[in-house]
Amino acid sequence: MSADVIIIGAGIIGLSTAWQLARRSQLKILVLEKGAAVGEGSTGASSAVCRHRYTLEEMVVLARDGIHAYRHWQDFTRLDEPRAAFQNDGVLWMPGADLDWAGIEHERMSALGIRTALMDDAELQARFPAFSVCIQAPDMEAGTEHLCSGGGKHLLELDGGYMDPVAATEDLLEACRKCGVEVCFRTSVIQVLEEGGRVSGVELGDGSQLEAPLVINAAGPWCNDFLTQLGVLQSWTLAPTRIQVLYLDRPPELVGDIPVTLDMQSGMYFRLQNSGQQLVVGSASERDEQEVIDTPDEFERFPDEAFKLARLHALHHRLPALPYRGSVRGYCGLYTVNKQDMHPIVGETEVAGFYVANGLSGHGFKLAPAIGSLLAQQICGEKADFDTEVQGSFLAPDRAPIPLSDKSVLA
Ligand SMILES: Cc1cc2nc3c(=O)[nH]c(=O)nc-3n(C[C@H](O)[C@H](O)[C@H](O)COP(=O)(O)OP(=O)(O)OC[C@H]3O[C@@H](n4cnc5c(N)ncnc54)[C@H](O)[C@@H]3O)c2cc1C
Repeated sequence: MSADVIIIGAGIIGLSTAWQLARRSQLKILVLEKGAAVGEGSTGASSAVCRHRYTLEEMVVLARDGIHAYRHWQDFTRLDEPRAAFQNDGVLWMPGADLDWAGIEHERMSALGIRTALMDDAELQARFPAFSVCIQAPDMEAGTEHLCSGGGKHLLELDGGYMDPVAATEDLLEACRKCGVEVCFRTSVIQVLEEGGRVSGVELGDGSQLEAPLVINAAGPWCNDFLTQLGVLQSWTLAPTRIQVLYLDRPPELVGDIPVTLDMQSGMYFRLQNSGQQLVVGSASERDEQEVIDTPDEFERFPDEAFKLARLHALHHRLPALPYRGSVRGYCGLYTVNKQDMHPIVGETEVAGFYVANGLSGHGFKLAPAIGSLLAQQICGEKADFDTEVQGSFLAPDRAPIPLSDKSVLA
């Protein structure tokens, strides 16, 4: 059996890439997924926050172009009734005691075509009545209360939000299959085959071989299996990292709208899900991205008690009406952090025909349509609607590490 392109992994990156290829070409595309369904890896655990604000202009544009596809999901997928829909709750950035940050970012985002609103305390509370506008950091260890004080400036991304990550991936699966892409589940790739410095296909778990001149590694936290085999990307360290997330039922005391919120003093983010009935709470702090997992099939799936308590202290500080009752549940997933510069690696490697879309860290959901576009443009040499404007060289495997001041997921 043979294909023009084999994609390893049916997560959001593998299927976005398959779809971006299929919607502009007649290539015979085969997606191989070791799991029984979509969402087995990072994608299934994702908070799928879609925010535009990044430090680097190219990342803002990639996020904008990815989110554009999610905002126009029916047009992008060409499905009559997609399962997923973009939840345009907005993304609120609360920088705390840094009184200049929101104004500077408002100017910067506006210049890049991202719609934001700069808000003072009164404007924020009028729009989101459940929020405290306190600019002081909470005590995340003991939860000791302080006398709260406002006076800050806050930034709201008007076109940000989130999406159900598994429903979106299922939509891409349907769109791909309608276009003739073959997607095989319970099919494990054990080796990428190479002949004379060129990819020639893959070997499967049952010992059979499939031929293809192009193979794309979209294996998420398992990406190193193939990078090590082929000896490529040796100057990059891509670390599967355990990431913890909590969820709580939303109590009736929490009135009004609640946007996706990045509470920068505490390093916490939260958003609603399940039609506003639940809160998803996680961390955007570098110190919570340190637990590297060498065996992506085995890691602790439940959040640590200390993580839970710290987030609850921060959450009660930001949403004071939240009562001290109800159960807190949670889960952990893995995402793959590029230790050199926190940014994804996308493009052809030193083995001809072997492409990667790896090291997506906590950015991979929002960027997925744009990452698929970068690869499809490189492979097909053609533009299509919903393409990103960013040049492929920005994330290319042979780039120099991007210098960064912030090494967290907010970089
Ligand atoms: C807790 C958490 C919160 C996150 N929050 C956000 C967020 O708010 N916003 C955002 O943009 N991003 C977020 N992310 C990041 C985002 O979810 C990931 O970057 C993205 O899902 C990566 O997608 P992927 O397709 O590369 O990987 P995966 O979803 O892991 O897909 C890889 C697939 O490859 C398959 N595979 C692996 N090895 C093989 C093999 N040998 N043969 C066949 N198949 C194989 C796996 O089974 C898997 O299904 C979060 C991630 C986590 C874990």
